[in-house]
Amino acid sequence: MTRNANGGAECPLCGHAAARHLLLVHTTVWRCAAPDCGLEFAVPQLDEEALARFYADLYYPANGNGREVRFENTPDSILRQVFQKLESRFGSLGGLRLLDYGCGRGPLLRVSLEFGMQPAGIEQDPEARAVAAKIPGAAVYQSIDDLQNAEAGAQFDLITLWTVVEHLRNPWADLARLRALLCPGGWLLISTMDIRCLRARIEREHWENYENPTHLYYFDRISLARAIRAAGFSEFSEWKVKISYAHHGFVRRWLYRIMFALGLADGLFYLCKRIDQVERTEDTTSGVNHASAQPDQRPEDRKRIRVGPLT
Ligand SMILES: [Zn+2]
Repeated sequence: MTRNANGGAECPLCGHAAARHLLLVHTTVWRCAAPDCGLEFAVPQLDEEALARFYADLYYPANGNGREVRFENTPDSILRQVFQKLESRFGSLGGLRLLDYGCGRGPLLRVSLEFGMQPAGIEQDPEARAVAAKIPGAAVYQSIDDLQNAEAGAQFDLITLWTVVEHLRNPWADLARLRALLCPGGWLLISTMDIRCLRARIEREHWENYENPTHLYYFDRISLARAIRAAGFSEFSEWKVKISYAHHGFVRRWLYRIMFALGLADGLFYLCKRIDQVERTEDTTSGVNHASAQPDQRPEDRKRIRVGPLT
């Protein structure tokens, strides 16, 4: 799909030529040579059948087959810290609508309920979706189409992609569709792993995020920002979230603090705000320009995320 006639690859995000970066067991990682992009991506991508098999094996083994889950969902204790930090930034999350895209078995939906949110999830994997669907108070769908069929005109105050963007076949297309599901002024939170982190630099093709065959893209700050812009977001920024890992010993906590301070920690977090195009109309009678935002269809008294500066 992104291979060119000379056997090279073209960056699917910016169209620039890409060079072979790493040879993996299941694919090749290519790196876009444009300095203002630098996206790393897998070509070839595994087909649907192979991906479904790896998801089942590595993430969601069917009950009772006794296989080890290699890539665990994020522990609730860490998600709880993220929601606490969101509350310190935006104020109370109670009553807000959340959509978790790629919700897996639903840990983020479960934790959001503790904060009084009204969660919905989208999950393609049937085993994981069946588990998430049992969470009382959470609606879970297979796709954005299914969500829109069930809830025409649904809009959300917060949409989360928690280590999901790297799994998507065409991330910026999904992000653009999700942007349209945000209410005006709503926020999208993306977390992914950073290819510039110390572990990726040291472990190279043995870094677990390269070895993971369900990852199709590998981001850093520059390529992620470019993907976010390609999805139509004009206002976004990195969110520096310091997580405390209770199970880490003194040395790992100390190392994490240093990596975090140096910008070499594994995780990248971005907050993106939906701002609607401001339409300028000329008042021909007075010659004055009026700026008017696109209509907000939500009720005026609806509780909304407080709009704050991006810092
Ligand atoms: Zn590129």
